[in-house]
Amino acid sequence: MARLTTDNLKYLMENLDSEESDGNRWRFVKNNLISNTRIQIQMLRQKGLSTSKLEELDKILSEVEENFIKDGGNIAFEKDLERGTELYTVCVRKSNVLIELAKHEGYRDFLRLVIGMPGDVRDGTCHVCGLIKQVLPDPAFPSGSLLKVWAKDKIGFTAALSDTDEARIKSFAICIDCRDEILSGWGYVKQRLTVPVEVFNAYLIPATQGVLTKDSLDTLSNKVKNDFSAVVSYEGYKGLLNFEEALKSFSETMLKESWYMLSVVFGKPESAHFRLLSLVQDVPATDLYRLREQVNNISNSACSFFGEARSLWYLGFSDIYRLLPLRKGRIGSNVDWRPIVELFSSILSFSPYPRSRLVKYATLLARVYRFQLFDIYGNIRKPKERGLDSELCRALLKFNYFLTMLKNMGVVDNAESEVGEGIPAVEWERDERLKKIGEWFKEMGYGGLQQGLFLLGYLVGEVGRAQYRKGDTKKSVLDKVDFNGMKTEKVVTLSNQILKSLRDYRILDKSNESVYYHAVKLLNKHRDWLRVNPVENAFYLLSGYAFNTYIHLSRGISHD
Ligand SMILES: [Zn+2]
Repeated sequence: MARLTTDNLKYLMENLDSEESDGNRWRFVKNNLISNTRIQIQMLRQKGLSTSKLEELDKILSEVEENFIKDGGNIAFEKDLERGTELYTVCVRKSNVLIELAKHEGYRDFLRLVIGMPGDVRDGTCHVCGLIKQVLPDPAFPSGSLLKVWAKDKIGFTAALSDTDEARIKSFAICIDCRDEILSGWGYVKQRLTVPVEVFNAYLIPATQGVLTKDSLDTLSNKVKNDFSAVVSYEGYKGLLNFEEALKSFSETMLKESWYMLSVVFGKPESAHFRLLSLVQDVPATDLYRLREQVNNISNSACSFFGEARSLWYLGFSDIYRLLPLRKGRIGSNVDWRPIVELFSSILSFSPYPRSRLVKYATLLARVYRFQLFDIYGNIRKPKERGLDSELCRALLKFNYFLTMLKNMGVVDNAESEVGEGIPAVEWERDERLKKIGEWFKEMGYGGLQQGLFLLGYLVGEVGRAQYRKGDTKKSVLDKVDFNGMKTEKVVTLSNQILKSLRDYRILDKSNESVYYHAVKLLNKHRDWLRVNPVENAFYLLSGYAFNTYIHLSRGISHD
């Protein structure tokens, strides 16, 4: 017996006293209910079917086992056992709260998984296999599982808005066989096809052709999981390379024709329910490969441009997660993940995402660093005080690469600010100090207006460094840049102020003079376009600031 209630105490304990004594000395029997229940939980865990609530229950049971049952234990009852008791149940007093374990949510999951079915069966059509047979009005899937999304717990979901079994059967009914298969399928996905993406999970559901053996399925699952992990993080990418190396010696015909599709579910188990964030259907394996190449190429460009570690510039889902500031909810630290999941879905399916929304996120990200809004936006890590400026700069530059990648993929359109001819890269090669600017323009494909804004931002960086050297560590010149958006008038005012500052700080040397000349020339030429998108103006200005500052910081040329 593995239950937490019983009508016969012999399943739990035995009396140590002889008939004539008071009958109050007892000890636990060897195969008692609690230990048996734990063995069953262990088996469910191995099948990947355990739930968080069940684990919670198991923890309590393990404490009971450890503290009372081990070595038989000696028990004394506070009161005499009353005669005529019909049902015993295990209760535990923890931190002075009495927990009736049979009422624990984990025990409900346990019963659902072990007995198969609590409710009764009716005649009906199984909504999974389509056969007319005995079906369950309530599938009673375990808590916190993806399957919980299907359970029609709420009356509003059921047909005709009534909560009768008949209505339930009309809206969703399942036969016992299908329920078993779905349960083991979920166990498999949970165990072998789940990839964490920072705070939630991606559940991968591969669709294959034909019937697979268990070995082929396992190999394919490993492949799907490795392929997906590579688009999540740099760690995952390295793992994939090792995996593919190992796979070379593995000559499976199945993999030669490893054509597969997968559906991706982004979500998170939450105590009794499953928080479904998004479902991306039918992603072909070839798209996953294409995406991996895009991420890989853009990260390579970035790390060779700045001569830094790959991990700093990788652009997998985990890294992208740190680029979009997500506001914490009013209650606790509940973050709304929808914006990031929508973006992931677009990326996975190579489908359009509004560029203007992303650029807004970029300027918001800059604000989070500049004004230290880490308490409000839960997913942006707070760097050490000294690292703030360099993190701000890298984030903005990374955003430039991100936008370029999405543009290459056809996910975002060209920028509204991408107008006019820029200055040819060769112009910059004459000046050793400015050579990098030309390379950047080539890499990013900036139009004339974007170049003008970037160059003005570059000079903001020059002035900022001068201010820092003079002890103004906050760089007051940045206060002249409105992170929310720069309208034409503000850009013009800024360019005048910058010229004055360059003179005042005595840094209007030949190189800066040439930058200023080109900036003003380009901005005047495209003045009409400056009106169109003030947020993009701010983004390209800040990008110039970031570029100048980051290059100096990462070269080890410190502010002093
Ligand atoms: Zn069925």
